[in-house]
Amino acid sequence: MFIDCVYKALRTPKEIQKTLEILTEADMLSGDSSVIQLYEKNLSYYFNTKHAIAVSSGTAALHASLLTVIEPGDEVLVPAICVPMTVSAILQAGGIPVFYDSSINSFKPCLKDFNDKITAKTRVLITVSMWGYRAIDSDIVGTCRQKNITIIEDAAQSTGTDSLLGYEGTIGDIGCFSTHEFKLISTGEGGFILTNSDEYAEKIRSFTHIGFSQHHGSFGYTDGLNYKLSAFQAAVGIAQLASLDIKIQGREKRKAKWKILLQQSKYIDFLNSDVMSRHNCYSLVCLLNENVKYTGKELANKLYTLGINTDTYRYKNAIVSNYPYCKVFYTQPKYSGNNNIDFPNASNLVRRMLVLPCHERVSIEAIHKASQNIINLLDGA
Ligand SMILES: *Cc1c(COP(=O)(O)O)cnc(C)c1O
Repeated sequence: MFIDCVYKALRTPKEIQKTLEILTEADMLSGDSSVIQLYEKNLSYYFNTKHAIAVSSGTAALHASLLTVIEPGDEVLVPAICVPMTVSAILQAGGIPVFYDSSINSFKPCLKDFNDKITAKTRVLITVSMWGYRAIDSDIVGTCRQKNITIIEDAAQSTGTDSLLGYEGTIGDIGCFSTHEFKLISTGEGGFILTNSDEYAEKIRSFTHIGFSQHHGSFGYTDGLNYKLSAFQAAVGIAQLASLDIKIQGREKRKAKWKILLQQSKYIDFLNSDVMSRHNCYSLVCLLNENVKYTGKELANKLYTLGINTDTYRYKNAIVSNYPYCKVFYTQPKYSGNNNIDFPNASNLVRRMLVLPCHERVSIEAIHKASQNIINLLDGA
């Protein structure tokens, strides 16, 4: 593969040096270390939130947040285009996933579909900013405030995406992030939660620390799990956070290069990143126009054989609501046994989408070569 969407994070000697310095000074290496406190302080400073809680994964972040907000049987609105981890966290927290359609050529909720799906049992809206593209705006926040629905942002892929409303993951009530290897801040495995709510922060911190109550200064008042991050990972996180903006600048260059080269094809458009905002350039989402002879999936399969591994290929280009383990829900009374619910906008987007990587391992030279291959396939005889 000369283009690979699978991102193996590069660590610079400077980052390794900084990590080692932090660990040499550390009082402890567990999740109770002062290194964790420093990491959390740096996160809440960078993202400008009152609380940051480091946890062991993005899925743990979602699970702990959902358990804090919902009761078993509550409905959780979740986009048809997301990742299996988002849906699994809802199930593990005892919620019922209710899928909603996205708005046209966007990962934001379709306001009409989302409104139609609200019932007396709807407790949470999850937004998922796929490939770093924004998934929330002030209309969505307004609707949720009015209907007393808590917003949990799954911002695992949009670390550093910014707009006039603030960073993605700080606009709703709770933001969940992953620091898995593929993400922009990479600690191998890991995640964190951001919130401005004292109540949510205390509950989430207690749950992720085996039920330890900060308020009482002891265990035994509530239950929980051990979802703590270790000081090893947090030390890497501190160094990674410090280079996040530089990393995004490098990705912006690669994204711009892809766009300049690919716009020569009359068959390619690009998903809009909003004006007056910064896309973290997790990946570039291209939209094939209606006249093209391939679907996004067919093109991705062809490109794979040419040494170009895209996220379109890796994710098999399916909407999550169609995964076998998600289809099961449609037998529930909630869906009146209808297992053929259509999500027209999400389906259209998925059919036409080609997702190209912009990470540090993708060279400008490789982008030139890959773009030529893509144009040849689309515009060629
Ligand atoms: C990576 C990711 C997760 C899960 O994060 P893990 O750290 O792998 O558990 C959740 N949601 C989205 C959108 C992701 O990309």
